[in-house]
Amino acid sequence: MKSRGRFLLWFGIAFFAVTAYAQTTWVGKCVRIEDGDTIAVLHNGREEKIRLFGIDCPESGQDFGQKAKAFTSNMVYAKTVSITVMDVDKYGRTVGYVKTPEGLVLNYELVAAGLAWWYEKYAPNDQTLKSLQEKAQFERRGLWSQPNPIPPWEFRRNGTTTQPSVGFTQPTTQTPPQTQTPWNTVGDTVYITRTGKKFHRMGCKYLSSGATPISRQDAQARGYQPCSACKP
Ligand SMILES: [Zn+2]
Repeated sequence: MKSRGRFLLWFGIAFFAVTAYAQTTWVGKCVRIEDGDTIAVLHNGREEKIRLFGIDCPESGQDFGQKAKAFTSNMVYAKTVSITVMDVDKYGRTVGYVKTPEGLVLNYELVAAGLAWWYEKYAPNDQTLKSLQEKAQFERRGLWSQPNPIPPWEFRRNGTTTQPSVGFTQPTTQTPPQTQTPWNTVGDTVYITRTGKKFHRMGCKYLSSGATPISRQDAQARGYQPCSACKP
């Protein structure tokens, strides 16, 4: 290895160590769901508003806005979550990753389910969000089932649903992109019930009595079988 390369390598490692060290992670109970990408979590005895980093959910007036909120609620409401702080936004909200007690990263799960956009402007380097979104588009999940979904940041600016200026073009690849992520269970969440022996997709009629998110891997390892109605 040339010395310049070695320098860059060490610089990279040092940079990673410093940024990793600078990240704060804390734990608290989720006490409120504002919408799909904004929740409130108890921190040092008070409610702290958390905006999910790197994603943007459809607004409540948009298609899939309510679904995104329900998804977030099901994943974290009244649960003890872990917050990895990335930033504080101009409204004073903490911006971060939200991890469920099951070890799932809510930011990633929302994008994987087609219930949030990768907010590329604010998280240009998050390749996991990028590839999860490409996979969701490829599989036409959630909002990607629509021909021309409007990015929520455009919707907010225009206050209208007419004339999307950023169209979504179907990817031409025939194989879904692979996901690389620092977390091992990402983007393949299924749901189980307290008594059933099957695992399901969100929204399955057999989940009316409550749904617990779990990774497909864990569900299979624990002997759950795919539901024949929702074909997860
Ligand atoms: Zn099912």
